[in-house]
Amino acid sequence: MEEQIRLILKSIGEDPEREGLRKTPARVAEALTFLTRGYRMDPDKVINDAVFTEDYQEMIVQKDIDFFSLCEHHLLPFFGKAHVAYIPHQRIVGVSKLARLVDVYARRLQVQERLTNQIATTIMDKLEPLGVAVVIEAEHLCMRMRGVEKQKSLIITSTLLGAFRSRQETRNEFMNLIRRKG
Ligand SMILES: [Zn+2]
Repeated sequence: MEEQIRLILKSIGEDPEREGLRKTPARVAEALTFLTRGYRMDPDKVINDAVFTEDYQEMIVQKDIDFFSLCEHHLLPFFGKAHVAYIPHQRIVGVSKLARLVDVYARRLQVQERLTNQIATTIMDKLEPLGVAVVIEAEHLCMRMRGVEKQKSLIITSTLLGAFRSRQETRNEFMNLIRRKG
């Protein structure tokens, strides 16, 4: 990867041999490897290792999960908060795993819509709950830095499955919970 990054530096008109840039290809390669580590993480494993049986059927919400991702169109960051909820049916997963799961999919080249979907459908497949809801609010640097959008704006995406889709009451309860600050 380092050689390719050296070529990119040349093609933008830089001298990869100057002092400040000499170690840049190695650093960028290392950073990119870290930022895309989701490809080397297995979502099945993250969830399966922490599933336990519990007779609990109330909504479980983990809100304000910080995430960082890279847009697949520009390789520029988009980042923000993910809110994840599900209503269990016999099976519960350790709470920290929801944040891990967000990380597994965020640390790849993404579009926000797919990221939202992948998190929701993985929880649906693995836990077979009564419903899943995922809402992601994100800022996209490819929009802000390239001047497509002048002001700071958030893109909000959501995937609602099962009871969150079919029952307005459930949906409202979730939306109220994630809107509440602190
Ligand atoms: Zn983009």
